[in-house]
Amino acid sequence: MARIVLKFGGTSVGDTDRIKNTANRIIDEKKKGNQVVVVVSAMGKTTDQLVNLSKEISAYPSKREMDMLLSTGEQITISLLSMALAEQGHPAISFTGWQANIQTENIHGNARIIDINPKKITNHLQNDQIVIVAGFQGVTNDSEITTLGRGGSDTTAVALAAALKADKCVIYTDVTGVYTSDPRYIPHARKLGAISYDEMLELANLGAGVLHARAVEFAKNYQIPLEVCSSLVRESGTIIEEEVTVEKSLIVRGVAFEDQITRITIFGLKNGFKNLSSIFTKLAKQNINVDIIIQNQTEGENTYLSFSIKNDDLRDTIEILEQNQESLGFDNFEYESGLAKVSIIGSGMISNPGVAAKMFDILSMNNIEIKMVSTSEIKVSTVIEEKYMIQASQVLHTAFELDKVELDVK
Ligand code: ASP
Ligand code: MG
Repeated sequence: MARIVLKFGGTSVGDTDRIKNTANRIIDEKKKGNQVVVVVSAMGKTTDQLVNLSKEISAYPSKREMDMLLSTGEQITISLLSMALAEQGHPAISFTGWQANIQTENIHGNARIIDINPKKITNHLQNDQIVIVAGFQGVTNDSEITTLGRGGSDTTAVALAAALKADKCVIYTDVTGVYTSDPRYIPHARKLGAISYDEMLELANLGAGVLHARAVEFAKNYQIPLEVCSSLVRESGTIIEEEVTVEKSLIVRGVAFEDQITRITIFGLKNGFKNLSSIFTKLAKQNINVDIIIQNQTEGENTYLSFSIKNDDLRDTIEILEQNQESLGFDNFEYESGLAKVSIIGSGMISNPGVAAKMFDILSMNNIEIKMVSTSEIKVSTVIEEKYMIQASQVLHTAFELDKVELDVK
């Protein structure tokens, strides 16, 4: 008997018909003799609607109360899905994050899971019940409700799969798998049969919305094979695993893009590296995620520093810089919003020089100015003006032959 974890996203449970449909897919898996644990998201756009409700009351609500609010979304889905399964004659039981013993660190809005005690779930599985767990939420050791960051239900599913030593984890979503780029914007994007954890991690971190990055991290750390497929269309999806036989000539396997980026530039930073660490420590303490960092030492001891953040963190970042200007020791700072990040990803880059050069060349041929660059072994990211984001992604997708090359499907 196999133990499996299935995760259904918001679209798959968007209304009561979809919930009934999802119940049928779960029953199919149960009938194969599997022990089934299900993780669900909030129905449709519920989380967005809850965020909008809070904005009607407060522009900057407390993060604790936001978690209290947003965690209700998933609670609606788990109970309705459990009812739908019972209605079909399949006993099920729903649990919130805290009932399922999903322990997180003490951070609101973006908590990491630190431990899961699966005893309660396994007891119910042994009683032949289907167990349904609310995604995206957990509890701190002093009983505070936390959420895992937008898209975090994927991480709940993979973390549960690890804790339950599940045989596999399937993420059902509104797309049929992982694509070479976002098919809603890049018409020639193609489905990948398989992709490695590392490539997927880069893609997820770089804004490909299909999987929560931490879910991929968990899957890699615990070597859990993941499958991403559609809950609506019955066709094979994308397998995410350690080693993927990459089509040899394919150096780049994905183009990712992300909007709402702001670049901050700090001028006249004194005292070089000491103040550099103070700045980033202060930002980290406020949970501000700094992405690309460029530091440049000019005459004497003066340094200028640029870094990119998400637009959402701009207000907090400005506040920190203004309040600490003297102790951090810099002359002034400015910021530029309306930016986007466009990246190319592929394990093939490790052994093929000249990929970054080709990317810059293509952007320059299209008169797209590159404002920042960062690289890793398997990706190159550029920050450009937001208005060029889709065009840049499209030309890169074509230039790196992702429009037409036949990819190896397992
Ligand atoms: N409902 C949450 C969100 O919309 C979590 C999730 O769907 O994964 O971000
Ligand atoms: Mg998602």
